[in-house]
Amino acid sequence: MKKIVVLGAGTGGTAIANKLRKALSHDAWEITVIDKDDNHVYQPGLLFVPFGLCSVNKLIKSRKNYISNGINFVIDRIKRIDHEKNRVETLDGEFEYDWLIIGTGCRLAPEENEGLMDEWGKNAFSFYTTETAAALSNAMASFSGGKLVMCVAELPFKCPVAPIEFIFLADWYFKQKGMRNKVKLHLSTPFPKCMPNWPKGSDVIIAAAKSKNISLSTDFALQEVNKEGKYVLSYSGEKIEYDLLVIIPTNAGDEVIVESGMDDGSTFIPTDKHTLKALNHKNIYVVGDATNIPTSKAGSVAHYEAEIITHNLLGEINGREPEPKYDGHSTCYIVSEKGKAFLVDFNYDTEPLFGKYPIPGIGPFSLLKETRMNWMGKLGFEWLYWNVLLPGKNTFLPPTLVKAGKKEQPDL
Ligand SMILES: Cc1cc2nc3c(=O)[nH]c(=O)nc-3n(C[C@H](O)[C@H](O)[C@H](O)COP(=O)(O)OP(=O)(O)OC[C@H]3O[C@@H](n4cnc5c(N)ncnc54)[C@H](O)[C@@H]3O)c2cc1C
Repeated sequence: MKKIVVLGAGTGGTAIANKLRKALSHDAWEITVIDKDDNHVYQPGLLFVPFGLCSVNKLIKSRKNYISNGINFVIDRIKRIDHEKNRVETLDGEFEYDWLIIGTGCRLAPEENEGLMDEWGKNAFSFYTTETAAALSNAMASFSGGKLVMCVAELPFKCPVAPIEFIFLADWYFKQKGMRNKVKLHLSTPFPKCMPNWPKGSDVIIAAAKSKNISLSTDFALQEVNKEGKYVLSYSGEKIEYDLLVIIPTNAGDEVIVESGMDDGSTFIPTDKHTLKALNHKNIYVVGDATNIPTSKAGSVAHYEAEIITHNLLGEINGREPEPKYDGHSTCYIVSEKGKAFLVDFNYDTEPLFGKYPIPGIGPFSLLKETRMNWMGKLGFEWLYWNVLLPGKNTFLPPTLVKAGKKEQPDL
């Protein structure tokens, strides 16, 4: 019996395991998936929790219900990957493999940010985990006015558009409460132009931020959170005062990657950006946030990669070379208020452009344009996630970017 072990039953790991189970004979291939718990969190929904638009318990489902029959699902903490001996050690056991897929994602590491733990849960909150999002929801509800700063500590971090969505929704939220004039909203980001390297997309988003009276600091890499002075300080000396700090702390790969000597020095795994194989490992693929490839750490990326990895791994099993197919494709909605959103679709070489998605010229979604239909897409994505993507079903959408219909300028 040949063995495939998948580390992490998150967005990428679950989809790949389910796809492989459909494709491989049960008699010849054993598939094991390991995760530390049975709680699969729909992470995009965490954005809505601080604004009372969603409760945390609606976002959590049992992983078991999304892992196909015929897959061995183990709940245990992964301690070490012995890549020399093709073996994974967990707290309670050991698992040998012929092929390994690593989908251990990334975690928040607020302890890496100087001064942050002094304010964590008091005046500084995040919305990136169920616990922190719920705590931030209480802090938002009791905020009586002042300076709210949304600060991204450093690159890389998962879902690069989430801080923009947060500050846009904060504008909507305080307007609804009739107290927008009492709140100063500020976004600080390490990106040079508010978003990743997207000149056109950044211009569109910066214009939207201006129209909402949101101020912006770019190239802001966090040096320190200062509890006494109630400010955040960047390495270049910029100081921003806050009353309520919403922060995306350092994002790091899981400890197991570092302890197994598999990271690139920045806690992420060196990965071929086109084949998605771990560099220097002939029988290991890496999916999602755990990689060091230069595209967004995003669920859409993990879904597209899951298709490519399944294709390449099945090819290798059948004696073919892995194909350099992945192009960095990522697709993200950007909520601009309750009821409206933008959409971006891009890859390593093509920045977000204007046009329609997914059917060129038709849509129904609009790229780099704020529409109600995009908002419907953002909400509808949750259904797609649980019912189509995680179970590893075919979406009939290509995992790579479709350039047809993309335009340098918006329609007049
Ligand atoms: C607030 C927020 C909003 C987001 N919005 C969007 C969005 O709108 N669109 C989008 O595309 N993406 C979005 N994302 C990003 C998206 O959720 C992630 O990029 C995606 O889930 C990554 O998938 P993954 O499989 O790499 O990791 P994950 O889904 O995080 O899974 C990693 C798994 O590994 C397990 N694991 C890790 N280490 C161990 C260990 N040592 N032992 C056992 N198990 C372990 C974890 O328990 C986890 O289940 C958002 C994220 C956040 C936080």
